[in-house]
Amino acid sequence: MENKQANKAANKAAKWQIKKLPTGVILDRDGVINFDSPDYILTPEQWQPIPGSLAAIALLSRAGIVVSIASNQSALARGMLDDATFAAIHARMMLAIEAAGGQLSHVAYCPHGPDDQCECRKPLSGLLVECLAAMRLPADEVIMIGDSLRDVQAALTAGVRPLLVQSGYGDASAILKKAHALDADIAVFPDLQAAVNALLHGD
Ligand SMILES: [Zn+2]
Repeated sequence: MENKQANKAANKAAKWQIKKLPTGVILDRDGVINFDSPDYILTPEQWQPIPGSLAAIALLSRAGIVVSIASNQSALARGMLDDATFAAIHARMMLAIEAAGGQLSHVAYCPHGPDDQCECRKPLSGLLVECLAAMRLPADEVIMIGDSLRDVQAALTAGVRPLLVQSGYGDASAILKKAHALDADIAVFPDLQAAVNALLHGD
């Protein structure tokens, strides 16, 4: 009986390789790296990093963990954001991450809207599959850090361990409840800095 319980506990720990550092991390962008808005991020000036997020990316890079981004950007499909402004927002983010000492392996954006029937828009897994291929890493060595149920769903579909942060604009407790209905083992943190500290130091 005791052995059975011990085995069960070991299986649970093995499920997401809790004790093992990931070799790669896929980040959602809005609400994880920068403050999100229900009105979308439409100008470079509106791209404002969440305190600690840039330093957290730098910590991952210094630890040898490959970092990429998977981000829905339906404002493009909605005609609220043109390609040039979108590129300027992206450039501002890249500059800020690199200035803080972080390195990105890949940035995957979905430019489509919910009715475009693409395969990349989260909760589908296309963006994550793209990131895994670019990082050349197997899904079971990678963690996805997101603030929304869509991130969790995309991660689970891609076979990547999801991790939730509560720095987005949505109803964090409602999101957590829905995420835990999908997988009760999903860990949750206030923000990216806390999540990365936990990953690297186990606290
Ligand atoms: Zn798409």
